[in-house]
Amino acid sequence: MPLSAFLSIEQLPGAAHPAVFRVRFDCGCGSEHDGLLTHDELDWAPLGLGAGAYLNLMTSRLDSVGDELGELAAGHIKRGEWPWSFFCFPEERARPVFPSSFALLTATDGPVGLAVRCPSCRRLSLNLVSQPHVDVPFHNDREIGVVEHLFAEDSFATLDEFRAELWSSSFDARRLALA
Ligand SMILES: [Zn+2]
Ligand SMILES: [Zn+2]
Repeated sequence: MPLSAFLSIEQLPGAAHPAVFRVRFDCGCGSEHDGLLTHDELDWAPLGLGAGAYLNLMTSRLDSVGDELGELAAGHIKRGEWPWSFFCFPEERARPVFPSSFALLTATDGPVGLAVRCPSCRRLSLNLVSQPHVDVPFHNDREIGVVEHLFAEDSFATLDEFRAELWSSSFDARRLALA
């Protein structure tokens, strides 16, 4: 299932090792379902990596990686190319990210609206990206849409609220260069 079929990703309180996430997704049958994914399944499986890899998102650096880390992925990351990235509006900068930080998603035939909880500052940003940006690791849009607004922690209580906010917002373009 592509990541863009996900609608919401929420870490369940309690379980930390491994962290467990409740994921709501658009199913092929036409309805929405919930599923549970571990941190590894959510963040590493799309890269074809096993457990034990460790990338430091706080410093945007590869601190240490397990033996399982694929050479291809490691090569990308050493060149400063990240599997996923987003634009943190509160910090006015692009940041690397993993799917477990995608709080809410809504895919259309065209772009994907994305509410991301920044792994560094913990605040929410709304981005508008292409589907490959979400679904294809290491495909990062050069330019994305950003809502220029500071959102409160509890801004989007429901998916409907998120969609309403997204489609009534205006987006400003930002370059996604991480360097
Ligand atoms: Zn179904
Ligand atoms: Zn941030």
